[in-house]
Amino acid sequence: MIATLLVGSVFVGTLVFSLALWGFFLSLGLRWAKAKSVSVIRIAVVTLLVPVLDLLITAVSHAVLSDEALGVLIAIRLVVTFVIPCMIIGMIFHLSLLRSLQAWLVALVSQLLIMLLVFLVVRPFLVETFAIPTNSMAPTILGQHWQGTCAKCGSPAFCSPSLDFAGSPQMICSRFHVSQPQNIDRRVYQGDRIVAAKFLRPDRWDIVIFRFPENPSVLFAKRLVGLPGETIEIRDGCVLANGRKLTPPPSVQGIEYLSEVENYHGTVWGSADHPAKLGNDEYFVLGDFSAQARDSRLWERGAAGHSPYAVPASNMVGVVTNIYWPNSRWIAFR
Ligand SMILES: [Zn+2]
Repeated sequence: MIATLLVGSVFVGTLVFSLALWGFFLSLGLRWAKAKSVSVIRIAVVTLLVPVLDLLITAVSHAVLSDEALGVLIAIRLVVTFVIPCMIIGMIFHLSLLRSLQAWLVALVSQLLIMLLVFLVVRPFLVETFAIPTNSMAPTILGQHWQGTCAKCGSPAFCSPSLDFAGSPQMICSRFHVSQPQNIDRRVYQGDRIVAAKFLRPDRWDIVIFRFPENPSVLFAKRLVGLPGETIEIRDGCVLANGRKLTPPPSVQGIEYLSEVENYHGTVWGSADHPAKLGNDEYFVLGDFSAQARDSRLWERGAAGHSPYAVPASNMVGVVTNIYWPNSRWIAFR
């Protein structure tokens, strides 16, 4: 929860700082445009009014218009970005449109500085958001999915929509049962959006974002189960580290980790025949939907100089702290 508060402070801090910077640059612009009735209160009013109107108009236009009306949406965006701020500046400071434009152009500099701050500091070192494309971490984190009802307990169950199967697909329910439910809603639900903290040290059972060892341009989200120096084995649905059975936290109890994978004929790392021995800078990761996750168990090549199953410490990107969208799925992991 502390990590969630820290991540929240980064978002709020960046927002407040960007508003303050916008107000400061606007005051410089107003001086350049020779505005007379400048006061801190008026600057604050404009600084708050512009983003609030922007949000309102954007929300209403997206609610009223469908995504196909792209031309109209772009026209609205242009009006919201260029025309409305100038009109508000003109009204509050009694300026002509040309002088309002002059003041607004200077205020724009602050937005460039904020973009630099976000791309050079916030995203690389503090927090980053991601959309999840797959269901290897289902039901904890969902990609695009179908929903059904678990045949074993009646809880909501999930699977990817695009799987090519003749009969009923295998789904995983919110209590980690894997079953083939009868009543599947074949509507495609959107995946979760998550936020990861870059400043946290990854711990066992954390969900981590890392660069895929075989292709570092691809990012994966999986659960970290094996720490540097450990030998990992999966037995009877549980993970063992150095021969000792690990006890997962309550939120993860119920996952049955598999050391045999249907229709897979390659090496399964972490099985009794192929325990995974980790170096002192390597991690072992698993998906919560063990029957369908392509995780450390099934990787074939690995990063240069590392075992196929290992995520080198240098590939770690961040620790997932929250699902923030859709808001009905909001959760704090840390
Ligand atoms: Zn169930």
